[in-house]
Order: sequence, then C-alpha cells, then structure tokens
Amino acid sequence: MPERRFGVNFYERSENSGQYQPRRERCPTCGGRGVVRCNRCNGTGVDQYDPFGRVVPKTCPVCKGKGTVPCPNCHGKGYILV
Ligand SMILES: [Zn+2]
Ligand SMILES: [Zn+2]
Repeated sequence: MPERRFGVNFYERSENSGQYQPRRERCPTCGGRGVVRCNRCNGTGVDQYDPFGRVVPKTCPVCKGKGTVPCPNCHGKGYILV
C-alpha cells in the first residue's frame, strides 16, 4: 500500500519541522467573513415570499433582517482548523 506509506511519511515530516499544530485557514464558504448571504431573502433582509402572489415585504425570519446568516461551514468564526 504505497499510498498509505506516503501518508505516514508526510505526517512524520510535518512533525519533524516543528510541533504539529492545527492551522487556521480562511473558510472557503464565507471567505473569512463568518457569515453567508441569507438564502431566504437573497441578502436583502426583507422577506418578499408570498404564497398568494401579493408582495408584502416584511423582515426576513431567517436572518432577522440582517441579510446574512452565520456560516454553516465555520459556524461564524470565519476560519477552519486544518
Ligand atoms: Zn434573510
Ligand atoms: Zn465560513
């Protein structure tokens, strides 16, 4: 299993170059902002969804009018540990 052995070697090399620590990397989902655009209101903060065809703008219940919701990938931190 050469692939497995290569993985072990890679791990040992990273250990030899210093203490192994999880690295912070910018979250690719939110670009480091920790929030993503609300899908419900498309980032407007206004919920215009109306099942009867009448547009009655009201505050989006998902994002509470902010237009953004905490990133589901990094849980609002803006970075992930790798
Ligand atoms: Zn919203
Ligand atoms: Zn994120």
